[in-house]
Amino acid sequence: MNDQQLQRYSRHILLDEIGIDGQEKLLAAHALVIGAGGLGSPVAVYLASAGVGKITLVDNDDVDLTNLQRQIAHTTARVGQPKVESARQALLEINPEVNVVALCERADEQRLQALVASATVVLDCTDNFATRHAINRACVVARVPLVSGAAIRMDGQVAVFDPRSGETACYACLFPPDQQFEEVACSTMGVFAPLVGIIGTMQAAEALKLVAGIGESLADRLLLLDARSMEWTQIRTKRSPDCPVCGEK
Ligand SMILES: [Zn+2]
Repeated sequence: MNDQQLQRYSRHILLDEIGIDGQEKLLAAHALVIGAGGLGSPVAVYLASAGVGKITLVDNDDVDLTNLQRQIAHTTARVGQPKVESARQALLEINPEVNVVALCERADEQRLQALVASATVVLDCTDNFATRHAINRACVVARVPLVSGAAIRMDGQVAVFDPRSGETACYACLFPPDQQFEEVACSTMGVFAPLVGIIGTMQAAEALKLVAGIGESLADRLLLLDARSMEWTQIRTKRSPDCPVCGEK
């Protein structure tokens, strides 16, 4: 690290848990952030400010006026621009040293597998089950840790799926792909603005911990937040031997 970097990251370097070694790991890391909306905004902002060396953003949407109530990486002036370009600009204003790759596309299964294979950590900031399952499959195949978040109305959830050990649950262990879940979208149900900030910030924290090798991750734990009462519920999860994605077949 040069003198500027030592200053920029000094409050991380001061931490016993991070120090020079941990910060070097962050600088060398590649985070794949899928979705540049409500969750993707705080995720990407914190990963960039914290010095994650390379951040790839994937999203095929444009910034819309209705996004600005909660998607803090975007601005009124950037309405109409691709979300990944808008977010890239926001990140580079905070930390011009980060290599931000903006992919304005809807990644299919094959594309996701290629993108995930080159990542240190993956952050699922999407809002539909089909994409969540595709991201999970790619992470299991490539053995890359996945930090998953979701937020709708006043309810949020966050979890880590870490296939590196082969011992903890994957997303499909918890939510079987053949099961029908009610697909709810912010566009119809609404979402409380700071809820995506709370959940997204926790996703960023878990990703930084995984990259720097700090503490205990949320693997095998699902955290649920009810923002009405601001109460967290922790559910212990475990790997399902019958899981169609990570189970023994
Ligand atoms: Zn599984």
